[in-house]
Amino acid sequence: MFENLSERLSGVFDRLTKQGALSEEDVKTALREVRVALLEADVSLPVAREFVKKVQDQATGQAVTKSITPGQQVVKIVHDTLVEVLRGEEDPGVLKIDNPPAPILMVGLQGSGKTTTTGKLAKRLKEKEGKKVLMASLDVYRPAAMDQLAVLGTQVGVDTLPIVPGQKPVDIAKRAKQQATLGGYDVYMLDTAGRLHIDEVLMGEVEQVRNAVDPRETLLVVDGLTGQVAVEVAEEFEAKVGISGVVLTRMDGDGRGGAALSMRAVTGKPIRFVGLGEKMDALETFEPDRIAGRILGMGDIVALVEKAQETMEMEQTERMMKRMVKGQFNMNDLKMQLEQMIQMGGMQGMMGMMPGMGKMAKQVEEAGMDDKVLKRQIALIQSMTKRERANPQLLQASRKKRIAAGSGMEVSDLNKLLKMHRQMSDMMKKMGKMGKGKMLKQAMK
Ligand code: GDP
Repeated sequence: MFENLSERLSGVFDRLTKQGALSEEDVKTALREVRVALLEADVSLPVAREFVKKVQDQATGQAVTKSITPGQQVVKIVHDTLVEVLRGEEDPGVLKIDNPPAPILMVGLQGSGKTTTTGKLAKRLKEKEGKKVLMASLDVYRPAAMDQLAVLGTQVGVDTLPIVPGQKPVDIAKRAKQQATLGGYDVYMLDTAGRLHIDEVLMGEVEQVRNAVDPRETLLVVDGLTGQVAVEVAEEFEAKVGISGVVLTRMDGDGRGGAALSMRAVTGKPIRFVGLGEKMDALETFEPDRIAGRILGMGDIVALVEKAQETMEMEQTERMMKRMVKGQFNMNDLKMQLEQMIQMGGMQGMMGMMPGMGKMAKQVEEAGMDDKVLKRQIALIQSMTKRERANPQLLQASRKKRIAAGSGMEVSDLNKLLKMHRQMSDMMKKMGKMGKGKMLKQAMK
């Protein structure tokens, strides 16, 4: 069974949440899973290695500052780095087609979806950007391909260059240029011939055409389902012809999109568009977030992150409850309670939610037990040493003075806090005797 990255990582998370902090070793373990997931998504090995190293550098750097949610950190860093690498600097949907007539050269292997994409792009330029577009097929080897483009042209309402049998590709290209200039076209698109494999004749031909028209954009169309092959094709075209961008087709299929990352890394050229079906409007601007999610197999990263966080909080609460019923409720626990109260909208907010507590909420208000007070109490606890927090009975006069001064408060404020703590822990001991299981269950709800 195919296991996606989120599943792989949740195993790692379980371990991380128990430790509560992100060590270098944890990051490494998580990243081993990330690397496997990338390889499974068709990312090439050197690219996956380099990517993982990049993430490792960032993750380890951040580890100390945000140790509260280690799982969140790893996932987010992986996702963000992926988006960053895929995004690049240019706007994928904006083609360089000023200075009319602007030539766009479409290249790629046969069957990659080149002709279909030419039609889709022509439609998009016409409808979204109001451009006057001319299309020309340079596939002199397959008359059917020429006819196919003419049919698509009629379908999307874009002109195609009349077919003149026996003409060489470079001559057709020149004729297209002439026609585009005379006819006042903004753009002319040249759909070159594809082969099943890369060969010298094909490359030589594309080079000739390129030299003849000096294209503003050379878009490589690759089948997104072919994974590793797509990457080799991109490398070859970039080296021999030079491309300005990539269009990934068949992304409506279940290819995992890893080729996008590899192609980007290997050629340094942006993915511009993705083909999402056979219809003429099934072309979208490339969105790094979507492909990143797809590569990682995580449709909903936020949900995953929340789950990791929830697990951590539950474990914390569970540990606290266990100590409480044993009468070991210490200052750290009290601090956590106070923080949770603030999160839930303060004492008043909490009581307001409970039936019959309205009167008490008023008393709380009168007693000044609002957020400000809660925050002051937290500040007092923060001024205590680790030992003092764990053992509040250590707090004698001199320590009390130091703590009050450290948080800018009076010893009497601290005494109030200590009294509250004593009362709470007495109450908890009593409740503990009443029935541990029941209370734990209550707390876990
Ligand atoms: P060419 O030989 O590179 O010009 O490829 P074609 O444009 O003739 O496309 C080959 C086949 O792939 C056709 O049946 C297209 O309808 C289909 N095709 C092209 N792009 C996509 C796409 O994005 N998704 C899907 N599902 N099919 C596509």
